[in-house]
Amino acid sequence: MSSAKTDEWYERALAQRPEGRAFIDGAYVETATGRTYDTITPLSGLRLAAVADGDGEDIDRAVRAARRAHDRGQWADAHPRDRKRVLHRFTDLLLEHQDELALLITTDMGKPISDARREIESSARELRFFAESVDKVYGDVAPTTPYALGMVTREPAGVVGAITPWNFPVMMPVYKLGPALAAGNAVVLKPAEQSALAAVRLAALASEAGLPNGVLNVVPGGPAAGEHLARHLDVDVLTFTGSTEVGKRLLVYSGESNMKPVWLECGGKSPNIVLADAPDLDVAARAAAEGIFHGAGEVCNAGSRLLVEDAVFDEVVGKVVEESAHWQPRDALDPTSRMGPLVDQCQLDRVMSFVEEGRASGVRLETGGRRTLEETGGYYLEPTIFSDVDNASRLAQEEIFGPVLSVVRLSSAQEAVELGNATVYGLAAAVWTSDVTRAFTIARQLKAGTVYVNCYDKGDNSLPFGGYKQSGIGADRSLHAMDKYTNLKTLWVDLNQHPRA
Ligand code: NAD
Repeated sequence: MSSAKTDEWYERALAQRPEGRAFIDGAYVETATGRTYDTITPLSGLRLAAVADGDGEDIDRAVRAARRAHDRGQWADAHPRDRKRVLHRFTDLLLEHQDELALLITTDMGKPISDARREIESSARELRFFAESVDKVYGDVAPTTPYALGMVTREPAGVVGAITPWNFPVMMPVYKLGPALAAGNAVVLKPAEQSALAAVRLAALASEAGLPNGVLNVVPGGPAAGEHLARHLDVDVLTFTGSTEVGKRLLVYSGESNMKPVWLECGGKSPNIVLADAPDLDVAARAAAEGIFHGAGEVCNAGSRLLVEDAVFDEVVGKVVEESAHWQPRDALDPTSRMGPLVDQCQLDRVMSFVEEGRASGVRLETGGRRTLEETGGYYLEPTIFSDVDNASRLAQEEIFGPVLSVVRLSSAQEAVELGNATVYGLAAAVWTSDVTRAFTIARQLKAGTVYVNCYDKGDNSLPFGGYKQSGIGADRSLHAMDKYTNLKTLWVDLNQHPRA
């Protein structure tokens, strides 16, 4: 099906009947109130499906199911090879259902179908990595005297509450589920209301793979459902990806409830720094365009601030403007489309308000700034570039979360670190230079969880992904992610009574 043409994707889109109910204790269920909301497809602005509008009662039910499952020990105490087998099977099912899941993503939140298919592939790699980790993460024996045995073991934290955003409807849940399930926890997932359909489907696939009932529950709903989960006294750990604003609230909810650890993957305004000695300005410009226009800029680590040294400023801006022509939005169900619509009317209005603010401020609009493909009813916006933006202005400071690039002029290379760090965020950053010493020096000084050198947005399962400052607490991906979902248990066995017995 990967060679399918636009028409075939449309046929399949019209034929799909997405499941929108909650998945609790191994089955799809109606919510307690029976209330649903309509999810709208951003491709046309029309209704796609009815989705369960879960509330506190549904979250309570899901947490009870998770707690029961955890206490039964069917998953937490299962032989590691059995947990591993189920997670591998879950991964296989993700790939077997790649087209179906990709179509749900595209129709629900507007990501181009080819990107959506790639999202399933990278989610499968992520899940496979954690499936493999199950029997490869060990505890420690501490260097005590011979008269004692000091052991450190990792125990599953218990019931994990997960709240995810709409921009990667499968990958963000998988970033949480991979390590949480591998470590033996039970999970209650509250996906974003804008794109819950794929997450709901994931739960059924996990169950088909052999995950015991109650180990993964998915309750769609809005912020109230999320708040109930975050304040729940029987949730042991909260893991979140979303905006900094909501992340801060979750810390308060935890403090006001049971002090559960809160792991946060939040927003960014990542600086992509191009110095005059960059090895290849064409490559840098191509990566800069991809860094902001890929995913329509609705990507947490988007390179939304391009900082360019004065000597090459005009040249680089010209090249990025040229590159932006390759990112003109096209029907998201067209397999050649690189940029689709924004997720909903609300996001389009928000992004347009920044564009208007930029225009009004007199900053130079190099290209874009207009809605396009309006006849489809979809929320498409042209790739947009503002140049000579003041780094202190809202255009350069706020996470716009759309295809809008702010280019800032650096008067010297020395200014790169100062301006790069002049933001409340610290998710990602990049530096382009041919000087290896300079690359390391700048990378070390940039306050960001990930720094790319002579590239943008690269990574792998074995590398942690998290933010400094207000971009978050803790990291997804890599074996380090297991720390978030395990408690360290210290066991001291006193052998003092029997020296050299
Ligand atoms: P959001 O913060 O508005 O919503 C995220 C989730 O939180 C949704 O499920 C939502 O229903 C829920 N929520 C909202 N208010 C809540 C409340 N008061 N209590 C509990 N839950 C609540 O974010 P979004 O608009 O869905 O996603 C975009 C944001 O996500 C951007 O800021 C982006 O940078 C961030 N993001 C970060 C990463 C990362 O890895 N750092 C990855 C993807 C997205």
